[in-house]
Amino acid sequence: MRRLLVAGNWKMHGSLKMTTELIEGVAAKIIAQSPDKQLSYDVMVCPSSPYLAHATGVATESGNVIKIGAQTVSEFEKGAYTGEVSLSMLSELGCDYVLLGHSERREYYGESDIIVSSKFAACLEGEAPIVPVLCVGETLEERESGQTETVVAKQINTVINAIGIEGFGKKFKSSTAQAIIAYEPVWAIGTGETASPEQAQEVHAFIRSLLAEHDEEIAAGVRLLYGGSVKPSNALELFAQEDIDGGLVGGASLDVESFAGICEAAQELAIK
Ligand code: PEP
Repeated sequence: MRRLLVAGNWKMHGSLKMTTELIEGVAAKIIAQSPDKQLSYDVMVCPSSPYLAHATGVATESGNVIKIGAQTVSEFEKGAYTGEVSLSMLSELGCDYVLLGHSERREYYGESDIIVSSKFAACLEGEAPIVPVLCVGETLEERESGQTETVVAKQINTVINAIGIEGFGKKFKSSTAQAIIAYEPVWAIGTGETASPEQAQEVHAFIRSLLAEHDEEIAAGVRLLYGGSVKPSNALELFAQEDIDGGLVGGASLDVESFAGICEAAQELAIK
């Protein structure tokens, strides 16, 4: 059984005021949809690091229906790594998730598959029960030259080769949560262009079969999110696909109505 997850990636947007307003606004709409606060799906948002502590406080005060994630983390525990943030710091601030290897981190900050897999390994080995959301996806050029599966397989296999398929199972030192993969075709991120439900499902099915080659039970339990211009108008159709277990949402997560509309789609489908 896989609960759908709606995740918002705020990127480098926001302020203290916006953090408060967005979390309070979305939480109020979610609670209006589910007054007993017993959601059948999960919601999380990833603000910039300086706002994480404030965000976890607002989320708790707003009914605890929204969890908080970070947009990246260091692969190191502590030390002379100026500007970096560690897993234990995120945990102390109340974060439950962390995005790893978002295409913008890969493109602008040189995060290679190896670096991303070290971060993934750190999430599993550390004391902090923070769930990694491994972001993968191909560029337009790679898609057009028929490289989609090769690229995505390499991104995932680097993690499997480094830590084993168990890394995607319930093997956290301090939690029973299971890692998540977000398939985000780079050509659909922030472009307004969405993969069709069929295109997205095809890659999601491929990812699940790739995991199943190693362990069918783990493959069946891993949540696979789709990311790339998800909006209220396309969320239901995307999330209804067999292997799509929710979304990683950029632009539309910065607007209360839009993000709550996407959450509503998850509520309609809820569990797979
Ligand atoms: C993202 O940043 O992960 C993303 C999918 O952005 P957008 O929804 O704006 O395409």
